[in-house]
Amino acid sequence: MSTLPVTQDRDGQVRTEVAVDLGGTWLRIRTGSEETVRLPAPSILNRPGEQPAALLELLIETLAGAVAEGARVAMSCGAAMDEEQGVLHGSGPLWGGGPDGPVPLRALLTARRPDVEWHLFNDVTAGLASFVGRFGRPHHRRVVYLTVSSGIALRTADLTERSVPVDAHGLQGEVGHLPAVSTAPAAVRALRCPCGGTGHVAALAAGPALPHVAAALGVEHPESIRDALATRLSSGDPVARRLLTTVVEPVAELVRVLRCLDPRIDLIGIGGGYAEGLGDPYRAELVRQVGEIRSYADRATGPDRTEDRLRLCRPGEVDPLAGAVALSHGALTVTKR
Ligand SMILES: [Zn+2]
Repeated sequence: MSTLPVTQDRDGQVRTEVAVDLGGTWLRIRTGSEETVRLPAPSILNRPGEQPAALLELLIETLAGAVAEGARVAMSCGAAMDEEQGVLHGSGPLWGGGPDGPVPLRALLTARRPDVEWHLFNDVTAGLASFVGRFGRPHHRRVVYLTVSSGIALRTADLTERSVPVDAHGLQGEVGHLPAVSTAPAAVRALRCPCGGTGHVAALAAGPALPHVAAALGVEHPESIRDALATRLSSGDPVARRLLTTVVEPVAELVRVLRCLDPRIDLIGIGGGYAEGLGDPYRAELVRQVGEIRSYADRATGPDRTEDRLRLCRPGEVDPLAGAVALSHGALTVTKR
């Protein structure tokens, strides 16, 4: 799946193809085959204390000023959203708890730049499309992509009909705010989630949770654990191992539940900067935990079966920019039932 420099619409109009990736940290814009421009995202993560409405205005202004006349934009958005309507329900990293009510981003962008064709997708759906394009095989019935990054969410594609089924609000797989399954001490399970809840999957297993989990486990210098963890793991440090086991557990339990409930899932991909950044140790721990035989019900899901049905992506393997472009051309269709 490569980004096309131009595309021809049904009406014969030739449009410049632009791909955008809006995350909590970075706003990335790729025009045609040019190099991707990376700007700090207008987010609460980058500008603590700023009003959500002001951040939204800055986002619209930046995008409206960045795309060429008559362009065709395929955008991956790090927010829970209704892709059919182009409406964002919210995003902790972008806007914290606000703005009040849904954000009709596609309509707002169209009002500012009516010459541009705007296609908006959730970043996990875009990641899923990219993952399926790269690793999907003809015999796969369902493929799941789970992202472990500044937040946690998953999407499942039904490849028998090339669809991503969603609910009436356009949502599917917002698992980051489910209660985490964890055997960690109470102090870990009581950690606050950015959404305001307690003990959620994201509160233990997302990237920003790492220093908080470390502190709750009594790890020394928890504020610098992010930089030190890989080295400490490779030297066999038992404290670092315990920390890794703790942050992987809620994700492993999600995978276990998915596989238990839907035998049609033939492949699960784990991506996102946090999991990809930890790399092989994260993968090994995830496979170990998911492959654990706990009862007779796990006979079909032992370590061998886990290895080939679970893939931890390497950095760059999943490209939400390419995924958004593929979705905008109908690679998968988001369907409300
Ligand atoms: Zn939460």
